[in-house]
Amino acid sequence: MRGKVYLVGAGPGDPGLITVSGLERIRSADVIVYDRLVSPRLLEYAPTDAELIYVGKVPGAEGGHDQEAINQTLIDNAREGRNVVRLKGGDPFVFGRGGEEAEALRSAGIEFEVVPGVTSAVAVPAYAGIPVTHRGVASSFAVITGHEDPAKGETAIGWSHLATAVDTLVFLMGVKNLPDIVSQLTSSGRPPETPVAVVQQGTTPEQRTVTGTLADIVELVDQAGISPPAIAVVGEVVGLRDTVAWFENRPLFGKRVLITRTRRQASSLARLLAEEGAIAVELPSIEIEPIEDREAIENAIERLRTGEYAWCGFTSANAVELFFDHLAEHGLDSRAFVGARLFAIGPATAEALESRSLRPDVVPSEYVAESVVESLTTEVKRGECVLLPRAESARVELVKGLEDLGATVDEVPTYRAAVPTDISPEVLADLRDGRIDVATFTASSTVRNLVAMLGDARALTGPKRPLIACIGPITSETARELGLTVDVMASEYTIEGLVAALRDHFAGVTA
Ligand code: SAH
Repeated sequence: MRGKVYLVGAGPGDPGLITVSGLERIRSADVIVYDRLVSPRLLEYAPTDAELIYVGKVPGAEGGHDQEAINQTLIDNAREGRNVVRLKGGDPFVFGRGGEEAEALRSAGIEFEVVPGVTSAVAVPAYAGIPVTHRGVASSFAVITGHEDPAKGETAIGWSHLATAVDTLVFLMGVKNLPDIVSQLTSSGRPPETPVAVVQQGTTPEQRTVTGTLADIVELVDQAGISPPAIAVVGEVVGLRDTVAWFENRPLFGKRVLITRTRRQASSLARLLAEEGAIAVELPSIEIEPIEDREAIENAIERLRTGEYAWCGFTSANAVELFFDHLAEHGLDSRAFVGARLFAIGPATAEALESRSLRPDVVPSEYVAESVVESLTTEVKRGECVLLPRAESARVELVKGLEDLGATVDEVPTYRAAVPTDISPEVLADLRDGRIDVATFTASSTVRNLVAMLGDARALTGPKRPLIACIGPITSETARELGLTVDVMASEYTIEGLVAALRDHFAGVTA
């Protein structure tokens, strides 16, 4: 059986801009052959056993993987009967050499399909607030390579026609040749006062836009230090940006936001931040470690199975995950909870239970220990046993509160939240030198551990300090105890609430 090759457009950078069909192909790929401009986020959708082959050029280096070798990789894999996704930035047939690959596949007798993508030529201007056509302003646009070597002397571009016949000109791959492009256009009759925009890393949180005219854009781009990938848009439509710009105006756009939770938990917050246009910088301050002393947990599991606990409570998604790891080690699953009623401290913890088909009986309206106790007041009966699998050395309030209700609490250390030893020196330097706009804290331990990792709290309290944002009152209190000023606190104590509070904060500041 022969495999098939799918030439898939990944879109211009924002991972949300892939097509439904493209995403389906990634999800069912055996091999993905991808380029440099493909969003790494999209590769996360590949099956875990899919082979990922990078064939992009290293920026700055010439040559890279040659086209012949890429063609051969596609052919060889298809001949082995694999489903091959050739994933390319933007659209595969817009300066993507997709046409050449299709020709090579045809002559090798390999079946292929093309899944078009959203091209940067249209999407990047759109994210910069520039429609490529506009009633009364531009009724045509052209997409042109900016990659021609001016030293060649001859040109495949019909400059004299192009310069004045088409309203909007979009140049790809042209940062280096911008001076040449500008002089070709002006000497072919395009007025020097024609507006120009150059957009770097469009549709991503790193997007930067410089605007000027044919007369001054070279200098402005140079001053701004614009580097590839970037496109240049030439034409009157650039003026619409003043009213149409939207992506760069969002309150969190381009803000560098530190995420201190565990690597495993960081991605959901990183995704929410990316949706708001922020740049997530990860510095995990917690590492989940297993507990050496397993006797307590083994006893607890045994008592759970025999129905001795009336309640089992979870105070974090980590606790749910780690407890289930222990269950799995004993060949057990959700049925081990028998008749025990369940409570969760908040929606994320509840979700962790629900993903294992367990619906918590009680989730308080405010996501702190005091609130759990309050919502359990009428539920927990005197003399009932409560299992509390959680982190070693967690807060005592919950246990005290439950005991005050007359319950017997079996607190079982299930994991340890340790300070990581493998710390990124770059991110630490960013923090010390004021290159982080916001530091987020989603648990007291994240503040305590980050201060421990830094040696002291100066980077978080000094003049170059980031804005301090906490998920709720307990975390805020810990931050204050360590000498920090809490600038933003979520009103709903979830990561969604935290992101919303940040958005409101910056919207207020810039309004
Ligand atoms: N097939 C792609 C283009 C490949 S050529 C497409 O349809 O978009 C690569 C060039 O595309 C880059 O040099 C740059 O000019 C442009 N480009 C691609 N992604 C970009 C982005 N996110 N921001 C700005 N320019 C981009």
